[in-house]
Amino acid sequence: MSRPGEKFIRNLPLQRKLMLIIMSCCTATLFVSSLFFVAREAQVLYRNQQEYLVSLADMIGRNSASALVFNDPKAAQDTIRPLTDKGNILAAYIVNKDGRLFARYQAAGAVHAALPLEVLPDWASPDEVAQAVRQVAREAYTSSLLSGYASVVKPVELDGEQVGTVVLHANARGFLHSLRYNILVALGFMGVTFLVFCLFSARLQLMISAPLLALLAAMKEISAGKNFELRVARPCDDEIGLLYDGFNEMLHEIEERDQILRQRQAHLQQLAHYDPLTRLPNRTLFYDRLAQALYHAERSREAVAVIFIDLDHFKDINDTLGHRTGDLLLIEVAGRLATVVRSCDTVARLGGDEFTVFCQNVGNAENAALVAQKLVALFGAPFRLGASEIRVTASVGVTIFPHDGKGVDELLMNADIAMYHAKGCGKNVYALFDKKMNENASERVTLLADLRQAVEQGQFELHYQPKVDLMTGKVTSVESLVRWMHPRLGLLAPDKFIRLAEEGGMIAELTDWVMRTACLQARAWQEANLAPVRVAVNLSPFHFQRQDVKQSVCAVLESTGLDPALLEIEITESALMQNDEYTCRVLSELREMGITISVDDFGTGYSSLSYLHRFPINTLKIDRTFILNMMKSSEDQAIVTAIIAMARSLKMQIVAEGVESVEQLETLKDQGCHEIQGFLVSRPVNAERVARFFTDEDHLQPHSAAAEALQGGTARHLLNDRP
Ligand code: C2E
Ligand code: MG
Ligand code: MG
Repeated sequence: MSRPGEKFIRNLPLQRKLMLIIMSCCTATLFVSSLFFVAREAQVLYRNQQEYLVSLADMIGRNSASALVFNDPKAAQDTIRPLTDKGNILAAYIVNKDGRLFARYQAAGAVHAALPLEVLPDWASPDEVAQAVRQVAREAYTSSLLSGYASVVKPVELDGEQVGTVVLHANARGFLHSLRYNILVALGFMGVTFLVFCLFSARLQLMISAPLLALLAAMKEISAGKNFELRVARPCDDEIGLLYDGFNEMLHEIEERDQILRQRQAHLQQLAHYDPLTRLPNRTLFYDRLAQALYHAERSREAVAVIFIDLDHFKDINDTLGHRTGDLLLIEVAGRLATVVRSCDTVARLGGDEFTVFCQNVGNAENAALVAQKLVALFGAPFRLGASEIRVTASVGVTIFPHDGKGVDELLMNADIAMYHAKGCGKNVYALFDKKMNENASERVTLLADLRQAVEQGQFELHYQPKVDLMTGKVTSVESLVRWMHPRLGLLAPDKFIRLAEEGGMIAELTDWVMRTACLQARAWQEANLAPVRVAVNLSPFHFQRQDVKQSVCAVLESTGLDPALLEIEITESALMQNDEYTCRVLSELREMGITISVDDFGTGYSSLSYLHRFPINTLKIDRTFILNMMKSSEDQAIVTAIIAMARSLKMQIVAEGVESVEQLETLKDQGCHEIQGFLVSRPVNAERVARFFTDEDHLQPHSAAAEALQGGTARHLLNDRP
């Protein structure tokens, strides 16, 4: 088959192909069988025709045999004369033994130029006659079909000897007519059968192609709708049925994979856009939603409030109560935040303890402030986390689109600045963004750069504040408190830069400097033969997280040559709680060296009192806020009493921080507190001034209430230049 033909057939629809196959098979079969039938019929007809002619020639031969023997042409002519009655006989010839034409008959008006003997004259030579006879014998069959006459050559025998030959030509019209009739019948049969086959094959191909087309339609429907739950109904039990089963199995497989894929996609989507802990939108989704909200707000000239919420002291909660509790708190906070905003607004968690909210169409700053107020108020009630109940506050910063900024980044930055401002204002409040705050924020950046330089250049100074024994009135230790000599801003207190140093990663260097300076100072006092007084150094929780605390303490002691017994380390309650095991080990090692361990600002963390006995602690320093409120609040008074009682039972030394009044001093003394530290005794002062406390010189203001409050001779140790 030629290539284009092959291509043409290959591209035909299946229906056509099936039709083509069925019809070509049927046509070929019909054609062959009809051909066989016609050929067979032609053979029978021809034989019948020849048999008739042979019998006629036989009869003529018998009748003319004696005429041939006796060479009587007239008698021979008489034997063939009756042929004139037979309308279908065209010609008859009798050839004698010598091969000459002996007698001949020709039907009137039926002269046939093609008859071989006809053209010969009566006197034709035996050779010419024999040749013509042979030609007649040879063409007997083909002449019937092609020339329309039938011929027969029959020898005439007498007593077993050939005495002549009869040649007979007859009209083959009957034979041809019957043949034509048979062909027509065959063709008619073929035509009818072809039509029947056509109808049958159309039905047959429909039985094959219809389910296939139905399958194709189902495939298209499924792939268009991506609905892999659909199934196709098996139409029959043959191979097509198996194909349907296979297709259904494939769909099942795809459906399963599709489900897994969807689940994974949903999970990825969730991970990409939602915070896994609180299930709130994450930073990405919040940015996206806010960008859209701003776009709509700009078109409809509406205001959008962007609010930044940061939990106060979250890190301490995490450090002291553990990350699990911290996580539970975040979940609770997320739940509460969601109750304040409308459904069209978005609450998100940006990370850590930072939450953001945006409220659409807030109208004006007053409304935004109302929302912020509600958010702050959410933290009024304590959070119940498992067995414990804790109080947490939040600082909230609010900024308004389009007044404070146009873009997402700018608005969030401004809300962040406002939130920092709220924190600076004492926490648990909200602040609306003001352009001036930006200046403060950039001040912070400048201060951080300055601090970095200050650490490099050592722009610090140490002040010392004495702790006095309530029984003896003697100074037991001095706390070293760092100050920054800022070239432009003057002397800065630690609350202005310690947090910055922690955040800027400079706290370890700064602590090193403080410890070295304090130890050198203590060594100097020792060498000056002053009474042995410990020097206390504050260790930041950030610094304590480093694994080399012990090494750095040892290095300082070694390089300064200070007796470890004269060094005291103050760590906050929160630092104590983080990394429990490590802290305990390091503190034990430091204490074994003879260093005194104090817990600073005790009472502000969340540790249970009984937890403390696990740690190698010498001293508890009660936070100054309890001391400050002790006289006004019976709750604070009760806390102070409980801390003192517990610490005494644990054989710990107790120091009350921030003692400012004689009343405080007396109450603390009555309750059994060991030492006090505070402005009542002295503000933090430089090394020279603090050293006066160590001597027996009389620096007292003899009639001061504080001096009198202390027992007898102990009062003389109080510095007379106390504020
Ligand atoms: P702290 O360790 O609790 O130090 C005591 C703070 O209370 C000092 O503030 C001190 O001036 C203040 N104070 C003492 N007596 C009274 C009083 O009677 N009334 C009031 N209202 N306050 C009193 P200062 O020096 O501003 O230090 C603040 C905090 O900064 C310290 O609290 C300590 O946590 C931290 N700090 C100071 N120096 C360092 C240091 O070298 N390293 C580290 N990591 N932190 C330091
Ligand atoms: Mg301290
Ligand atoms: Mg303190």
